[in-house]
Amino acid sequence: MKKSATGWGLQTAAIHAGESRERWDVTAPIHMASTFRFQNADEAADAFEAEDRPIYTRWGNPNLSQLEEKVAALEGAEAGLAAASGMAAISTALFTLLREGDHLIATTGLYSGTYHLLMEDLPRFGIEVTLVEATSPEAFDAAVRPQTRLIYLESPGNPLLALNDLEAVASGIARPKGITTVIDNTFATPINQRPISLGVDVVVHSATKFLGGHGDALGGLVVGPHEFIQNALRGPLRHFGGSMSPFNAWVIARGTRTLPLRMQRHNDNALAVANWLSDHPKVAQVRYPWHPSHPQHDLAVRQMPGGGSGVVVFELEGGAEAGARLLDRVQLCVRAVSLGDTFSLITHPASTTHRSVPREARLNAGITDGLVRLSVGLEDVEDILEDLEQALEQPV
Ligand code: PLP
Repeated sequence: MKKSATGWGLQTAAIHAGESRERWDVTAPIHMASTFRFQNADEAADAFEAEDRPIYTRWGNPNLSQLEEKVAALEGAEAGLAAASGMAAISTALFTLLREGDHLIATTGLYSGTYHLLMEDLPRFGIEVTLVEATSPEAFDAAVRPQTRLIYLESPGNPLLALNDLEAVASGIARPKGITTVIDNTFATPINQRPISLGVDVVVHSATKFLGGHGDALGGLVVGPHEFIQNALRGPLRHFGGSMSPFNAWVIARGTRTLPLRMQRHNDNALAVANWLSDHPKVAQVRYPWHPSHPQHDLAVRQMPGGGSGVVVFELEGGAEAGARLLDRVQLCVRAVSLGDTFSLITHPASTTHRSVPREARLNAGITDGLVRLSVGLEDVEDILEDLEQALEQPV
């Protein structure tokens, strides 16, 4: 059984790690407070010296600490930091690690928000960025310069599900050269993929997705070495102010308790959907890490031993029009962006999540006009398949 940083199995850690140990609590109360009382002047002074108790919620809050400890335990990390969204977590991690004059290498096929942060915002602060082919560790190696400070990975990538070979890039290339690696593990979750055990230094999450799991709260997490997390908290998180609400932390911690159970179901349902789609005459191509047709299937099974996770992408015969027709005709699957929800969510990346990425860059990254992304939910899989079948069977 895979062990968490606490020594417990992942399901036990998902439930117990970080939970309140106050005398009466089973589940934690929500500390919906911006500030915390000091009994006297000495206590206030000590608090500012040691920072071992809550002072002000942008600096820390019991609900945030509980979630941070839980996700750090699941990822096998020393410490964690909650942020207001996945993008707040990513920008906090990057602004903690990078400075003017640094060079960053990132994988292609990034989530579009990350793509814009890397390609538009970081260069304004004097940071150079090179994008390299996701699937080629050699391309990462070839892009290294003396100024390279950080390699940024996203695996599986959004939305094409291309994989970075984490061990080859993190342990084989980055670590010997003193380069820090950061991975967005949103798609896989620590139930399916444990990047730190493969040599990656820092893991970021959009907790809005599988960690929270119910489509009701925005959030982000950064986990990694204790010293880095302290620098991130004392620096960019406090100064740029992207802190998570205590209420969101409570909701996301509640979701995370069932993450292993939910991921098992996401994995099973998504694999069944990928198998079904790959046999369908109107489907030109299916991509799913655990499906044998995935170009990196062997790596997927090795690197994501828990399962292929909950997202399937496919190309319909008939391109953009066929994609739009499918979206119009589904009745159970919900037409909505995002992923990792209990509901199955269906999107057309070219016209929605990736419409702001220039078409050429989009096509170069393989995001064709007719590509459909399905975040397979927790419904009975027969109902998901029936919905897809009736939507695909209707005449043009
Ligand atoms: N990372 C990935 C892989 C995502 O898919 C997303 C959002 O879709 C984000 C980060 C950003 O997360 P958030 O919307 O919570 O800021």
